[in-house]
Amino acid sequence: MKTRTRYVHSPRQIENPYDPTSVPIFQTATFGQSEATAFDEFDYSRSGNPTRQVLEQQLARLENAQHAFAFASGMAALSALLRLCKAGDEILVGDEIYGGTFRLLHDLAPRLGLKARTVDTTRSACVAKAIRPETKLLLLETPSNPTLRISDLEALSSIKKARGVTLAVDNTMLSPYLQNPLDHGVDVVVHSATKHLNGHGDVMAGVVMTSDDDIAQAIGFVQNAEGSALGPFDSWLLLRGLSTLPIRLEAQQRNAKVIADWLVQRYSMGDVYFPTLADHPGWEIQVRQARGGGCVISFRAGSYERAQRIVQDTRLFRTSVSFGCFSSSISIPNCMSHACVHEDALFSTKAIPDDLVRLSVGIEDVEDLIEDLDLALGQPVQNEKEGVGSLLTKGATIDG
Ligand code: PLP
Repeated sequence: MKTRTRYVHSPRQIENPYDPTSVPIFQTATFGQSEATAFDEFDYSRSGNPTRQVLEQQLARLENAQHAFAFASGMAALSALLRLCKAGDEILVGDEIYGGTFRLLHDLAPRLGLKARTVDTTRSACVAKAIRPETKLLLLETPSNPTLRISDLEALSSIKKARGVTLAVDNTMLSPYLQNPLDHGVDVVVHSATKHLNGHGDVMAGVVMTSDDDIAQAIGFVQNAEGSALGPFDSWLLLRGLSTLPIRLEAQQRNAKVIADWLVQRYSMGDVYFPTLADHPGWEIQVRQARGGGCVISFRAGSYERAQRIVQDTRLFRTSVSFGCFSSSISIPNCMSHACVHEDALFSTKAIPDDLVRLSVGIEDVEDLIEDLDLALGQPVQNEKEGVGSLLTKGATIDG
């Protein structure tokens, strides 16, 4: 089957006398047992549920993984990943990560006896140097959130193989439709399924996927032992959203590219971050390991006040955290998704500039989106801050 067909047709249907064409929602906590000591495939929904199982099998198939585990949120999925480590182990983490991941590793991991340190994963040589005997896990995002920096998965995979480290990638930004890290030697993939996988902004969910049987066994154990699995109704909603991911993301990515090019006309290059812009420092790697740049664009507004004005003035781009929804949104990462990230000498993440504006581009007509942004960007403003280019005049034409 070709890709889009695979998204539409899940591999397994649940046996049912009425042969429903939609996967049934098994909204039940328990399943009857014929005897106290005889267990059928399902006994308790925390341990396994048929609706969730169809979802997990479909997710695994789309990410080219042998196993998938659906969790109640992306953070629950990342917490389960942490459980691969034991007290005394060290986690190396990319130096630009989602704010919640920062909080988990910086504030919570030490309470579990885990040490976490950051490293610039866009420079593979730095990673090779940073690995210590106690390093157990290397976790990164590529493209990273929010400035879309790119790490070379194959280079990192050869390093981790030689050093016996588990390599985990948060693939939320691109989804399995645009990037399959396991194909590049990565051991574990994590997603916030709240974003592209569901795509409708109405479900919180997360996934851990792997083809390593030992890792799968450990994650499955945590999912059951900690009770953080996704519920049946949310599993069904996620399955429904998943089937239209290719057409949503193609439309979003097409719009995003037009908007990124348009923004480049307004700002000097370097102030607009989108992985498939030809001047992006990670462009070559991105083209090699992914099938597009996704739908998230960040740009520097010039000042915090101006960023606030832009975010307030857009109408179609709704001010909200998150990304990957079919409708467009806009945010200031520094005071929204990344508000809990702070400077720390031992755990030094890249500072998120306070004038950085992040767009998540939806499936609307791109002309409307550009008009919305154009009005919000307003009159040309000359360099309010060093490094920001001057704006072109209002109403710049759309290229492409
Ligand atoms: N990973 C990334 C890259 C994210 O952007 C987010 C949320 O924004 C998460 C993980 C956490 O996912 P959730 O909000 O579903 O818990």
